[in-house]
Amino acid sequence: MIYLDHNATTPIAPEVREAMLPYLGDKWGNPSSSYRFGSQLRRVLESARAQVAELIGTSPREILFTSCGTESNNAAIHAALKANPLKRHIVTSAVEHSSVLNYCQALEKNGYRVTYLPVDCDGLLKLADLENAITENTAIVSLMWANNETGVLFPVREIAELCRSRGVLYHCDAVQAVGKLPTNLCDLPADYLSLTGHKLHAPKGIGALYVRRKTPFSPFIHGGHQERGLRGGTENVALIVALGKAAELARKQLPGYDAKVRPLRDALERGILGHPHNRPADTISPTGGDGRDAVAGIPGTELNGHPELRLANTTNITFHGIESEALLLLLDQEGVCASSGSACLADSDEPSHVVKAMKPDTGASRQMIRFSLGTETAPAQIELTLAGLRRAVKALRT
Ligand code: PLP
Repeated sequence: MIYLDHNATTPIAPEVREAMLPYLGDKWGNPSSSYRFGSQLRRVLESARAQVAELIGTSPREILFTSCGTESNNAAIHAALKANPLKRHIVTSAVEHSSVLNYCQALEKNGYRVTYLPVDCDGLLKLADLENAITENTAIVSLMWANNETGVLFPVREIAELCRSRGVLYHCDAVQAVGKLPTNLCDLPADYLSLTGHKLHAPKGIGALYVRRKTPFSPFIHGGHQERGLRGGTENVALIVALGKAAELARKQLPGYDAKVRPLRDALERGILGHPHNRPADTISPTGGDGRDAVAGIPGTELNGHPELRLANTTNITFHGIESEALLLLLDQEGVCASSGSACLADSDEPSHVVKAMKPDTGASRQMIRFSLGTETAPAQIELTLAGLRRAVKALRT
């Protein structure tokens, strides 16, 4: 199997599995219990909290464990609305993850007004649009850092500064960014920031929400006194330990992440689009023009997303005239795992809302494939993927 779908989920790192196993075995107590068998687990939770805090440059007291990125996103928006009951306006973008978009749509049914900021054909946001959208009535701005489908990056620092200057709370969905980009909340004045374990080589079902000190927060899940009364529910110690370990590994691997992943992503992209970069492959001249060899590529392909302002591991490409699902099926038969957008929406017939927002008048949103690489992706896998892709495209175009 060649796994090129790391934005959907990542394999569990052996060190992470190892770290969590004792808490699925002998150490099965409840951290809220008064006797030591349970209560000693509180230290374990705090040490995992410190590991997560260190990855994003903040203090452990600002980290809340949740069940996933979806809960973190919902909880942040919920908290801001509760803190400002008279403010009934939310600003987000048309290309957010469904955990933000669908929650906003549910809020619209409850009388909130939501502005969905547009993006341009490269997937980029205009800060002027954000500036114009914020009103006296805006309770929260929720804008992601890295897009899960295209990898395109929003200028989160400028967004955070703008929100602060306008006195509006800012939530950043950093689920795809954390572990792939240096994250330091000392430099990024966001009020809330979401992350999830399963994009970081931890298991599914564990996430975290950063809540800046003094930022309003009221529970999204009501229950016991866990998480300082901010999130009810007996803590899943094993998964929290796993997230802590994954955060520690991500922090150590971060300095080498780009150099490991980007050349392979670029090689895959060049093999598909041809070189020079980002032009329809059938119009390519035999010389590359910048010293690199010209590569023929697969005709009728087009990059979705800004060529530079995006994650190092992601490429999203339209194969003109080919339905995404047909190509994915043949790729699966070649042993290649890729996707046509968010895994959370893979069972729907809807075209990608992200590519549709970028290129509304084309068929691109039904004819695209996302490849997302990981640190364990090997050069030989890229060669095999390209060979499989050429066979699959040829079969579907004849
Ligand atoms: N936000 C983004 C950008 C994502 O890519 C995802 C998952 O794909 C989520 C939120 C939701 O995270 P989870 O699957 O942990 O609920």
